[in-house]
Formats: sequence, structure tokens, C-alpha cells
Amino acid sequence: MASWALKHDIVDVYYAVHSNDAVFHDNHASYFEALHTVTVECEGDEYGVTFHTPYLSINKCAVIQKGMGLGVPFGDTWSCALGGTVHCGVCDPCRDRRTSFEILGIKDPVLYEHDIFAESREEVNILESPKHISVVA
Ligand SMILES: [Zn+2]
Repeated sequence: MASWALKHDIVDVYYAVHSNDAVFHDNHASYFEALHTVTVECEGDEYGVTFHTPYLSINKCAVIQKGMGLGVPFGDTWSCALGGTVHCGVCDPCRDRRTSFEILGIKDPVLYEHDIFAESREEVNILESPKHISVVA
């Protein structure tokens, strides 16, 4: 990201990383500070890349709530780490996104190749079916 910014003469990068992503060291504030220092050392003060991470202290649910308040068209947003034409539904960012929308009780408007909650509901329905109850009894 820093090298891409330098290549395109970009000195301010806004990155929507949030606290759920902080499980990875390259999503810590100290990492972004170090990147800035390295780019300043390599390119000089005026070309150092500054990373702005305004959501680093809040979780994905809070980011979605902020977006709802701002009228973000979530159907036009992308979270999947795998690319493709629809969200895969199983990579970490997809699971985080899908889970956060579920916690908030908001329907995520994007399509998922695999919907982790639809699959869970099928399991619940199987457990609640009369056939299963008779097996248990
Ligand atoms: Zn995915």
C-alpha cells in the first residue's frame, strides 16, 4: 500500500481498517506509524505517506452503524478478500461483515456465495423438525 501510494505521488491514505482487524499486526496503529517513518526516510519529509485510520478504535458493527447514519449504499461496498463477482461468504472479512450485519439486525444487501447464517438456520430447522424430535424421544 505504501509503495503504491509513493508510485502515484499520494501522501495521504485513508484506510477503513477497524478494531476487528487488529488481530493482524499490520493493522495496528504502530504499523501505520512505522510505514510513515519508513516512507519519510526513503523519500523525504514532503513525500512521506500518512495513513489515516479513523475506525481503528471501533468495531465493524459501529462502522456499519456510522455508515447507516451517513446513507452509505452498502450494496455498492466490497469486503471479500477473495475477489470474484459476489462475496464468498467464508473468508474472514466476509464472516466479519455478515456477522456484524446479523448482530445489528440489518439485512446485508450484497450477495454471498455461501451465507453462513442461512446454513445455520437450516441446521436449526433440522433440529426442530418433528422427525428429529421423534429420534431424540
Ligand atoms: Zn469473502
